[in-house]
Amino acid sequence: MSTNKKVLTIVITMLLSVSLVSIMVFIYNFKQFSIKNTTDKAISIAQNVRDGLTAHMVNGTMDKRALFLDNIATNQKIENFHLLRAPSVVNQYGTGFYGETRISSLEEKVVKTAKLQTKLIETIDNVILKVSIPYIARADAKPNCLECHTAKEGDVLGVISMDLEVSSTRMEGVFIASKILFILLVILVISIFVANYFIRPYIKLFDDLENGILQAYRGDFSYKVDTTLKNEAGKVADRLNELSEIYRFKKTIELDENKIVIYNRIVHILQSKFKISKFIFFEINNKNKIREVIFDSADLNGIELDENANVCRSFRTSNHVYSSDFDDLCLNCKQKLSEYICLNYDIDEVNSLVLHIQSSSQEEIKRIKDEIPVISNYFDMAKPVIESKILMDILKETTLRDPMTGLYNRRFLNELLDSNITSRIVNDNIHAILMIDVDFFKKVNDSFGHDVGDEVIKRLAKIMKESTRNSDIAVRYGGEEFLILLQNTTKEKTLKIAKMINEKFKSEVFSANSTTFSKTLSVGISYYPSDADTLWKAIKYADDALYNAKNNGRDKVVEFELFMHSGGEDY
Ligand code: GH3
Ligand code: MG
Ligand code: MG
Repeated sequence: MSTNKKVLTIVITMLLSVSLVSIMVFIYNFKQFSIKNTTDKAISIAQNVRDGLTAHMVNGTMDKRALFLDNIATNQKIENFHLLRAPSVVNQYGTGFYGETRISSLEEKVVKTAKLQTKLIETIDNVILKVSIPYIARADAKPNCLECHTAKEGDVLGVISMDLEVSSTRMEGVFIASKILFILLVILVISIFVANYFIRPYIKLFDDLENGILQAYRGDFSYKVDTTLKNEAGKVADRLNELSEIYRFKKTIELDENKIVIYNRIVHILQSKFKISKFIFFEINNKNKIREVIFDSADLNGIELDENANVCRSFRTSNHVYSSDFDDLCLNCKQKLSEYICLNYDIDEVNSLVLHIQSSSQEEIKRIKDEIPVISNYFDMAKPVIESKILMDILKETTLRDPMTGLYNRRFLNELLDSNITSRIVNDNIHAILMIDVDFFKKVNDSFGHDVGDEVIKRLAKIMKESTRNSDIAVRYGGEEFLILLQNTTKEKTLKIAKMINEKFKSEVFSANSTTFSKTLSVGISYYPSDADTLWKAIKYADDALYNAKNNGRDKVVEFELFMHSGGEDY
């Protein structure tokens, strides 16, 4: 049976029981009341009869009493109206009329106890109250009983018995009881509707919570509790949903390929779930205190993106930092137009994450502040997963790097692009591909030998490392051909880096065979997603641009344009 039905059954049973008990109490009391009423009527008749008989006695018309008694019986609709002479009266005045010495068991009791006795006889269609009332000899009565009767004070002189109908009162009782029952039933029906209306959302919530927890227990955190309740119960549902979302998040990131994908996912959650628009997300190496920008929503003001992590108060103090706490709290975050919140999360001994959030709206800052416990839950969940991904990355590094230059190898590029990282790039920031190839490299080998050629390759790799950020990916694509993936960049920055590499390499002086020489290189550039909708395509287009540079005199930086497209396979 569902909880809803169970609760309704309990409510109905309780209300029915209360109704039943009320009706029974009413019936009992009504019956007692009817008996008392009828008994009072009998006593009043008995008094009238006594007074009448006394009058008959005084007037010497005792022999006419039968008519008097008959009249009363007829007028009052009394059955079995019977006058009994007590033995003392029989002794003094004789047996009287026929029947006045006939004694019933009830009258016998009255004579014995000198007290009124009643007996209720109920049949299906009739209710009769038999009442027997004693006449007691009393000196203080008017006239004094003891003046005429040879009896002692308190002796029973006679008994008057009568059968009185209570049936009509019973009908009335049944009628009133039916009315009460009807009203109770109406109240019952209304109560059931009201209970159903108010209890149903709670019961549904209860059932949903139970199912949700059961499902979560089985490892499925997709359950969402849907409730219209806004009060405490509603909050319980919100908490469970939050918990469920966080667990789902954990299950998802566990399957992610590397920490970058997880970072991207966190960025996405901060933007879509927590509606935080202006923020920078740093990864910090605790050993060398270098911080690297994982995500930068741009148009932030007042913060200097210094590589030195020690400028960050949140990192230094391992604490959350709120600009509202103190003026000029963090010297790296100049509080001009916006308030800021910096959250620090340590991943392991080597790595920490810092989230720098900005907003010029006080309400937004307050809202975000209130959500920090939930945001922290996401980071806490991600912490061990990121830690394990970092370990995995270290392991991978060894097989995915080119031993001669220390740059990533082609296999790494394949894995990176096949991991579909582009689909996780959640904003429309620009990514650039640079294809770099040394001009007339064969000549180096031919003139100075392979080792000198190797040295040229190593120097170029060094220049590339120095000219790019840690988050950029430099790959040894072929023999003396290199690829750089610049993440979250602009066209201006890209051109600047490309020209810098070109210039630096040109100014390198190599010595071999007691002579010196210099080399040039060519660069082809394409942008994702403006030139190509996949990174594979962007690589192909950067290669086309490189080909164009080679054909136009070499020692050039060329950005891809459509006419350069060599055709062939589109990725
Ligand atoms: P271009 O300006 O058209 O690029 O002319 P290029 O001579 O540089 O032509 P290309 O890029 O095709 O030359 C590649 C040469 O690089 C061929 C190969 O002998 C040489 N090479 C490839 N890998 C290595 C390496 O690891 N060490 C050395 N020393 N040479 C390599
Ligand atoms: Mg070459
Ligand atoms: Mg080449």
